[in-house]
Amino acid sequence: MEKVSDYFGSMVFDDRVMKSVLSAKVYASLKKTIDEGAALDISVANAVALAMKDWAISKGATHFTHWFQPLTGITAEKHDSFISPSPDGSVIMEFSGKELIKGEPDASSFPSGGLRATFEARGYTAWDPTSYAFIKGKTLCIPTAFCSFGGHALDKKTPLLRSMAALNKQALRILRLFGNTDVKRVTTSVGPEQEYFLIDRKMYEARPDLRFTGRTLFGSKPPKGQEMDDHYFGAIKPRVAAYMEELNEELWKLGILAKTEHNEVAPAQHELAPIYSTTNVATDHNQLTMEIMQKVAAKHGLVCLLHEKPFAGVNGSGKHNNWSIGTDTGVNLLSPGETPYENAQFLTFLCAVIQAVDDYADLLRISVATAGNDHRLGANEAPPAVVSMFLGDELTAVLDAIEADKPYSGTEKTVMKLGVDVLPKFRRDATDRNRTSPFAFTGNKFEFRMLGSSNSIACANIMLNAAVAESLKQYADRLEAADDFEAALHELIRDVVRSHRRILFNGNGYDDKWIEEATKVRGLANYRTTPDCFPELLSEKNVKMLTSHGVFTVEELRSRYEIMLENYCKTVLIEANTMITMTRRQILPAIEKYATALSADVLTKRAVSPAMTCGYETKTAARLAELADAAAERVDELEEAADNARAIEEIGPQSFAIRDAVLDRMNALRALCDEAETLTAAECWPYPTYGDLLFSVN
Ligand code: ADP
Ligand code: MG
Repeated sequence: MEKVSDYFGSMVFDDRVMKSVLSAKVYASLKKTIDEGAALDISVANAVALAMKDWAISKGATHFTHWFQPLTGITAEKHDSFISPSPDGSVIMEFSGKELIKGEPDASSFPSGGLRATFEARGYTAWDPTSYAFIKGKTLCIPTAFCSFGGHALDKKTPLLRSMAALNKQALRILRLFGNTDVKRVTTSVGPEQEYFLIDRKMYEARPDLRFTGRTLFGSKPPKGQEMDDHYFGAIKPRVAAYMEELNEELWKLGILAKTEHNEVAPAQHELAPIYSTTNVATDHNQLTMEIMQKVAAKHGLVCLLHEKPFAGVNGSGKHNNWSIGTDTGVNLLSPGETPYENAQFLTFLCAVIQAVDDYADLLRISVATAGNDHRLGANEAPPAVVSMFLGDELTAVLDAIEADKPYSGTEKTVMKLGVDVLPKFRRDATDRNRTSPFAFTGNKFEFRMLGSSNSIACANIMLNAAVAESLKQYADRLEAADDFEAALHELIRDVVRSHRRILFNGNGYDDKWIEEATKVRGLANYRTTPDCFPELLSEKNVKMLTSHGVFTVEELRSRYEIMLENYCKTVLIEANTMITMTRRQILPAIEKYATALSADVLTKRAVSPAMTCGYETKTAARLAELADAAAERVDELEEAADNARAIEEIGPQSFAIRDAVLDRMNALRALCDEAETLTAAECWPYPTYGDLLFSVN
């Protein structure tokens, strides 16, 4: 067995490879592009392309692709081989700088939300040199951004890179105010914890709902669920362990820092967390991780479910976006410092995040809104749809003291004056951690916990970076104009705490009382579903902020609004169709068959002895007949509701019709069928049960 350190990153054209295969001059200019965003010369691009191709061929690659993240949520690739004909009938393997830098995939079938008028049906992909190229299978994958010919972003990477640039710009202004001149670049880093379910492939294949929609649309509760809490951090079963081992190897080869893995709360649920990296790279890596998770599962006769709520009544899967801001000199700006000066700087960035989360809570909510995540948020295992922020008692007390100009009653009983006091050290205490907060400070980073397991982390980080850039901009404007920096800073922090205190909540986020307080007393928004929140994407406040930082254009925002709501509608309509087909073609016939068999039993028994009561048979058959009749009616109603919703042309009203009329009828139909499942003989039921699905992988 090879050592991990020998094969880690072996499929990545990373810095080590670049150093060894590029000339010193080419390497230096590429580095300048990567680190500082300097424009790339075509001669440099040619040299890089040549080296990349030779390296890729030496690893067995035959094709290359511009790998990008269209708005469908998954990644896209179109493979071209390196071959080029030679006059003597043979082929040579070619790859030019031009092919490296720019591609022109036929983009007309990717969603554009009306951005791509017919005259510019094509889009182009542009190399993102800040994320390393890698080999997947036999293909050299080049991470790229995807735009229309008019220059509008058609992907998730472009706005993410723009949001990082916006935050960099404003954070540097703040650092300069603190007298810092050596920091050249500020970036955000993310470590996404990824939850998933692993189930047996044969069982999966027997369930049309899982195959078509990624979640179960039917299924009564298993006798045992997660109530014993015996799965969380429990011993990993051999088949799962073998899967995790291979998954880690595949990820490590791709330079992905897969670090921790453990069982989650629900049976068959697991988690994988990488070591954090730059947001852009973390996003690419998370997309790749989700893809490889599914591929490796197939090799083990398993299926990896990334849906937010694959099983009703069982915890769903999320993704925790651990996020921090750091400098190229290695300083984490969200880490309380050693000196009063560093602390003042820390508090400034902390305030920027507090204000960002309060001012743009709607954008954060939107960034995690999908049909799947709607089932998870607020369902007792995940944060509610109300965004709030947890700081912990100690940091809250510090802010209280600053706000009131009162002594801080923590470890040091002194009046907090910025520029004078050293903040107490914040310990990371696992016992004292709040796991119910949507947005929690965890010592030197924030953990945004509302993301669904299948979401691209790009969306959340775009909004987070942009919103924090906006707070920082306001602070920089104010502080740059001040005569007395320290006094102005103190006042600023006090003002921010005063104005945004309502977003801070250290209590139990899962408590209904909190939702009431949040909405009624504090005036925080509670966008329960995707159709509720998406219109806010186009509110004046949000459009102004996102366009002023160059993160989105107005057209891009409009197109995203359309695409995301369309996606919501299509997802639910496919679920409705799947339920209709399953009910009519499998569930009703199964009920019918069993009820008929029971009735036949009654006749047989009574033929033997007319006095036989046949209580079980008659009662069950009667109830099944009732359920079947009701289900048949509900299925017709569901079909009608779906048709009516589909006929609504405008996407906003359509999404509300789907949420209100279609989802409700789906739930009503499900309740009937689930009861029928509990009454029907196991051998007659057409699908593996929840018990089968959740407890079969050993
Ligand atoms: P848990 O939340 O389960 O207790 P950790 O807090 O140790 O686990 O780490 C969760 C994730 O946070 C990991 O992916 C880790 O790499 C990431 N992380 C740790 N420090 C930072 C940081 N400064 N910035 C961003 N992510 C971080
Ligand atoms: Mg965590």
